[in-house]
Amino acid sequence: IIFQKYCHGAASAAIFGEIICQKLKEPSEQSVYKKTARDLTDEMRSNCESLNGNRSNLEKHILKTLAEEEDFDKCMNYIDNPRDHFQSFIRDEVSRYITDKFSVNVLPKMKENIKLLQQKIMKAAHESTEHVQVNSGDAGLWLKNFTQQLSDELIFSEKHLSGVKHDDVDDFNLLEDVIRQELPAIMSDISSRFNTNTFPEKLDYKFRPDELLIDHLCQCCWVQCPFCKAICTNTIENHDEDHSVPFHQVIGLSGIHYANTNNLSVHICTSAVAKNNLHFYPIDSKDKVPWREYRRAGGVYADWSITPDLSELPYWKWFVCRFQKDLEKYYSKTFAGQGNIPDEWRKYSKHDAIESLYKYI
Ligand SMILES: [Zn+2]
Ligand SMILES: [Zn+2]
Repeated sequence: IIFQKYCHGAASAAIFGEIICQKLKEPSEQSVYKKTARDLTDEMRSNCESLNGNRSNLEKHILKTLAEEEDFDKCMNYIDNPRDHFQSFIRDEVSRYITDKFSVNVLPKMKENIKLLQQKIMKAAHESTEHVQVNSGDAGLWLKNFTQQLSDELIFSEKHLSGVKHDDVDDFNLLEDVIRQELPAIMSDISSRFNTNTFPEKLDYKFRPDELLIDHLCQCCWVQCPFCKAICTNTIENHDEDHSVPFHQVIGLSGIHYANTNNLSVHICTSAVAKNNLHFYPIDSKDKVPWREYRRAGGVYADWSITPDLSELPYWKWFVCRFQKDLEKYYSKTFAGQGNIPDEWRKYSKHDAIESLYKYI
């Protein structure tokens, strides 16, 4: 009878250990993926040139990339839907980083996290065995202690094993041994299924590296200048002070044209507010307002601080020249008449344009 009970108890411990390992698989996988995603995010925040600063730094890289790629649709997406464009830029950077560095950085990080988790699970199993032996406890106590120790690492509780009979488990050393033997296979199975698509496929979006970076870099003001659509550079969403940006764009980029003509405007907000005798018609208004007193237009205009400044970014001058035909088609208007592009703008090369971003921004 004693022998039978021993056999029965041992078999129960072995089966229970195996079931625990099986049930640990999914939570372990999630835990390791989440941890690796966080590690990777931290790494990109220090190693990736475009992602290692604030949004203004990122914007510089975005503008540089737009100039390099010369893809007009992407340019207009930046101008019309900046937030959307920033997010897809970050997603592209992350996916390129993961693909490029997969075997040198990403996979080793993941394997390291697997190793650490495996050690933590074994430590928890060992301590639970000691705890039960000291307190003459049963499998219920073992399990409670085990899941408590792992609660910071895994979403794994006694509920995961509800319905699994374990009353007759009494050999806790054996239970621990079984887990020690079974766990490596579970872990290498997780490891072998890890690939460049794992994060988007297996992780809830809020834990993915690109979303963590978007959270970090895109929680700021996205209000655009009512004239040129430049994005306010304030790092706080819903800030109290006026919106502002160091360099405004050419207002024709947002389709602004001279009244009663089809001529797109080549004014730049900061120099326009410095001029006398220059007026504009606010959106939905027939009353013209002097640029110098643009705030008088109220509404979206009143919330902006546009200070007169004659230093203009060569980038946007190059941009208008490079994409003149595309912009004219896009808005069905032309840079002609009053909106003639000044000759001196045409002397800027793409190189000058990109260089100006690094010189001034
Ligand atoms: Zn502006
Ligand atoms: Zn703002």
